[in-house]
Amino acid sequence: MSVYFVSDLHLKPERPDLTRAFLHFLHTIQEDADSLFLLGDIFEAWIGDDAPTPGLESLITQLKSLSDNGCKIFFQHGNRDFLVGESFMQMIGATLLPEITTEHLPVGDAVILHGDQLCTDDQEYMQFRSLVRDSAWQQEFLSKSLEERLSIARQLRDTSKQRTTEKSDYITDVNPHTVKQTLDDSKVTLMIHGHTHRPAIHEIDLNGQQAKRIVLGDWDQLGWYLKVDSDGFDLISFEIKKAAD
Ligand code: MN
Repeated sequence: MSVYFVSDLHLKPERPDLTRAFLHFLHTIQEDADSLFLLGDIFEAWIGDDAPTPGLESLITQLKSLSDNGCKIFFQHGNRDFLVGESFMQMIGATLLPEITTEHLPVGDAVILHGDQLCTDDQEYMQFRSLVRDSAWQQEFLSKSLEERLSIARQLRDTSKQRTTEKSDYITDVNPHTVKQTLDDSKVTLMIHGHTHRPAIHEIDLNGQQAKRIVLGDWDQLGWYLKVDSDGFDLISFEIKKAAD
């Protein structure tokens, strides 16, 4: 029995190779996956469960059949797909998790999160985050027409991309103090997150205790996943083949 984690696939219509790679991944894990955690930014953009999702039909079907066959699927919001809602969860047979949660894994308890919450040096982003995670803001956004929502989402994405390229590396990475605080608050010595696109396994000294922070990678030229079973964990990357299309 294995537990799998992925994040930051950033699926979008322009990259059908990523969706195909994910479908293939789901196929390879279906025999031994006890649970699958989708830790955010699975989708490059999400403007509401009522918006069309071109190119995602077979993915939705496959996730649902994975779940119907007994694999528990969990979903955490990322900073791009934070508007994924309960009706999409039902479509794929998944459970929406709180943005920070402690889970029992075969290797012990771990705190899991998308990871943007850890980038507290990026004050501008943290401000933006509290705006768009506000339920009143979300309700108002979701009440707009699809066209309006698309145009607002595009604007927000362009501004964010432009600003991110202007920021130094340390600002867009996690703040070490926030990491320790989050581990402390959760009373665990293992953290799993994505978001920073800096896949690694970090050893942390947590007040004399040894802790680990596992960072998932984003999917682009390579795909990344974390496999956890009673033997331990493996952070695995593989090549994503670009088909001729
Ligand atoms: Mn992210």
